[in-house]
Amino acid sequence: MDESQLQDVLKRIYARGQISRAGLAQELDLAPSYISLIARELLASGSVCESGMAPSRGGRPGRLLQINPQLAHLIGVDIGTVNCRVLVTDFLGQILAFQTFRSQALKGPGPLLGLIHREIEGYRRTFPSIRAIGVAQSGVIERVTGTLLFWPKVRGWQDVPLKALLEREHGLPTIVEDSARTMAVAEQAFGQGQGLQNFVHVMVGTGLGATLFVGGELYIGSSGLAGELGHTTIDENGPLCSCGNRGCLEVYSSGWAIIHRVRTALTDGVTSTLAPALEEHPGELSLEMIVEAGKSGDRLSQTVLSEAAAHLGTALAGMVNVLNPEKIILGGPLPRVAGDTFLDPLLYFLRARAFQRSVSATQVVISQLDEKASALGVVVMLARELLGKLAGPKSPPPPRGGIPAIP
Ligand SMILES: [Zn+2]
Repeated sequence: MDESQLQDVLKRIYARGQISRAGLAQELDLAPSYISLIARELLASGSVCESGMAPSRGGRPGRLLQINPQLAHLIGVDIGTVNCRVLVTDFLGQILAFQTFRSQALKGPGPLLGLIHREIEGYRRTFPSIRAIGVAQSGVIERVTGTLLFWPKVRGWQDVPLKALLEREHGLPTIVEDSARTMAVAEQAFGQGQGLQNFVHVMVGTGLGATLFVGGELYIGSSGLAGELGHTTIDENGPLCSCGNRGCLEVYSSGWAIIHRVRTALTDGVTSTLAPALEEHPGELSLEMIVEAGKSGDRLSQTVLSEAAAHLGTALAGMVNVLNPEKIILGGPLPRVAGDTFLDPLLYFLRARAFQRSVSATQVVISQLDEKASALGVVVMLARELLGKLAGPKSPPPPRGGIPAIP
């Protein structure tokens, strides 16, 4: 049996969730009898199972095929600037366990990696069939080696070989991906990107990044660096950005920028209802506090939030003109916390500046996924990668540390 066809079938079943043999034959343009043969082999190997009945078209209804959720358990780790999240899922992304804790990333890699190792070890005792680890990280990643090259705004994390460190500690295959991208992949798999061909996901958290999907596929660019929306220039003479450029969008519209601008204004003596709280707890200014103050009529918070939204709306107008997407999904902490307070001014500037026919075809929505999205997305990427290595019983056994068929 042709192994590449076997994998095509596996990938199609995974992408569709559930599909009948007749559906597979039609979509892959293969003979129904050949599909039946492949299905028998995949069922025998345990990588696929039957679930539910396909709607009858007159003849005998067929059973639907799906990837066996028990094929393996997977771990997703999202290393954020503020919080670190670790979750365990089955092979289809059903969350079985979840843990979040403070990253305290400024203390350097040692303490945080120690905590992550301990969480993983604990989960492996509970779920012995964990077969691989996916890491989502908000810094700049070298994907092939899984090295964190640098982490903007977080000192002490240059050239950290995350993949190598985790593989050595746990003996499991590990991938490391950009967390803005993994969040977008979760949106495509489980959120408002399902079934779309051309859409953009914009993550607004401490940083700001876009992920592009073209023809239903993730577009990463020739060097894997597509989507650096946060580092497009809004003002050539603007403030210095952590990337070395001046006037980047991230300096105006990211969560970090909003907190920084409010803090600077308060230090300069600008009147605000936030001033007493900040005097009491100088380190505790958060996006939630600024959004709440804005809703209660605080002028400083309202101005900073609406200016951030206006700049992002202008930048997205350029993106709509270039890409003409079906949808823009706004994810990450800022849209989640601020909601319409942020969306309304953003839409005003987007519609005012984009090509009218293009923008009227673009829906702009706020993601409904929660803080687990980045860790969940890297698990989806892990499952897709492992599926490519899976094969039936006649194929050679997977490499050591690879994914054996679960008995
Ligand atoms: Zn920049």
